[in-house]
Amino acid sequence: MQRPLVLFDLDNTLVDRRGTLGDWAAQFTAGHGLGDEERAYVLDMVTERAYPSTFEAIRTRYRLPISAAELWHAYCTDISALVTCPAEVLDGLGELREAGWRVGVATNGAADIQRAKLRAAGIFERVDGAFVSEEAEARKPQRRHFALAAARCGAVLGDGGWMVGDNPVNDIGGGRSAGLRTIWVSGDRVWPLDGPGPDHTVSHVRAAIDLLLLHAADHERSTV
Ligand SMILES: [Mg+2]
Repeated sequence: MQRPLVLFDLDNTLVDRRGTLGDWAAQFTAGHGLGDEERAYVLDMVTERAYPSTFEAIRTRYRLPISAAELWHAYCTDISALVTCPAEVLDGLGELREAGWRVGVATNGAADIQRAKLRAAGIFERVDGAFVSEEAEARKPQRRHFALAAARCGAVLGDGGWMVGDNPVNDIGGGRSAGLRTIWVSGDRVWPLDGPGPDHTVSHVRAAIDLLLLHAADHERSTV
């Protein structure tokens, strides 16, 4: 039997990007002698989209005597040092693979920072494959993003699978359009969009993993 596929979003699904960025912004502004009021500004900048160009804007605003490339490199290093994936989630990825799942990561963002985070958080060695949008200019919610992520796991979208993520448009809408079943990691939010919602809603990613493990066990029982 074909091993079933599950793709996970990275930021605010497998790792707490919001918390990591908050810690980083505090470190960054203190390290560059910037006041507390600038912390919120810097945090907003990187929260929206963190790419090398973001640091060109930050460098210009604060007249920092460092190149944007160096700031970007330091950001990748600092974030890697701060980012963590909860032990029960790392264990869960391993449990899924032991139960026969193909496990992948499908994330938007810059390749160097996202791959550094995947390695630092211990996720990379626990999944079959990962795709970062910048690697082929294919961002969620585009179908091509999910196709490339599936391919990294040796799977094709035509065989179906699951997408787990926190973003209603990118992860859930995109995943559904790509023919995947979806689990929304809500963080206790209420589904914000009109039209079809996710197949399942959980408050934390570990609950999504448990649901998939149960689903696989049920499936096995019904097919023997
Ligand atoms: Mg996310």
